[in-house]
Amino acid sequence: MKRINLLGSTGSIGEQTLDVARARGYRIESLAAFSNVDLIERQIREFKPEYAALADEKAAADLKARVADLPVKVLSGLEGVSVCGAEAKGDITLNSVVGMAGLKPTLDAVNAGKTIALANKETLVAGGKLVTDLAEKKKVKILPVDSEHSAIFQCLLGAPENKALKRIILTASGGPFFGKTKEELKKVTLADALKHPNWSMGQKITIDSATMFNKGLELIEAVWLFDMAPENIDIVVHRESIIHSLVEYTDNSVIAQLGHPDMRLPIQFAITYPERFESPERQLDLWEIGTLTFYKPDYETFPCMDICRNAIAKGGLLPAAVNCANEEANLLFRQGKISFCDIPELINAASAYAKDCENYTLQEVLETDVLMREKVREIASV
Ligand code: NDP
Ligand code: MG
Repeated sequence: MKRINLLGSTGSIGEQTLDVARARGYRIESLAAFSNVDLIERQIREFKPEYAALADEKAAADLKARVADLPVKVLSGLEGVSVCGAEAKGDITLNSVVGMAGLKPTLDAVNAGKTIALANKETLVAGGKLVTDLAEKKKVKILPVDSEHSAIFQCLLGAPENKALKRIILTASGGPFFGKTKEELKKVTLADALKHPNWSMGQKITIDSATMFNKGLELIEAVWLFDMAPENIDIVVHRESIIHSLVEYTDNSVIAQLGHPDMRLPIQFAITYPERFESPERQLDLWEIGTLTFYKPDYETFPCMDICRNAIAKGGLLPAAVNCANEEANLLFRQGKISFCDIPELINAASAYAKDCENYTLQEVLETDVLMREKVREIASV
């Protein structure tokens, strides 16, 4: 039986992971989130983990009182989240925390030798070298949950030792603003940006999909997961989100992975790898789908993809800087304090202040996070 430590349990990926666990009868050893007391209490009562944590101290105290009738150990703060990922008895730690808060828990779980199922892409972008070096040292596997990376991972199964991999082709839905001009983007609202055509996700990633920063993050994520140079990673807009990504080998053979847009499949595969079992994913009916379409991304109207491509090409702390600046700009947009088109401008302006260094430490990544948030707010005058 699989045993799972689940970080970010109250979110979109967290809830879908619990769907998979429910359907397959997996044991949940720990649950962690930020402050959603009502939902985590229900999850604790259903899954009876040994540990639970809320990063927010007040919410954690409330939770502790509410579940005093159960043997669960309730922890608080980021330290508590880390204990849930590293010390709880799961063999696999699924990290679906949103944003930079997930970095330390990922590193701690790798250090403890847990297999990592990673949805929390921001932290691989910001601390890619730290995470992958430690994983190599500890001989720990990092299995992708992100649908594109799960697709690439699946396309690479059975590849020759030298991989013979020439190119990765990431598919992108194009988000709600596909086909819009720069002028039209100036008028879009938060409600418009939250209407993703194919996926129902947390708010932060939904806005990242609208700006296409999400695809930039995924490009950097692919660099680290598959040891691929950024210039060998292409992006193709594929509106139907049926092909989840493709790989091209040296002989120009291209392999793709297809399925309906349902995150429960990549979540389940990260947990059961290398085995496969029945899943909630609907069978693919190509007659029903009929047509699949492909377009070149509009890099000029959606500059966030190139911001990320340039950041990983330059390396050092720049990927962390653009990620952290985006986290803050994304938040300010959701709070109604800046407009949609301010997001890439703020990321560019703030990341110019990033410290120039090649081999960074965790401390430097965390300092970059603080600096970028300050700079974004300062430049936006909020
Ligand atoms: P949600 O916003 O739905 O959920 C985020 C989760 O993280 C919640 O459980 C939240 O707790 C928790 N959280 C936030 N801050 C902290 C913290 N400091 N400590 C502990 N837990 C915290 O996000 P999603 O599920 O949509 O996304 C999660 C991650 O997965 C992101 O990195 C995203 O990019 C990635 N991803 C998501 C996909 C999707 O389909 N949703 C697809 C591919 C990748 P609380 O509810 O208490 O605030
Ligand atoms: Mg994705």
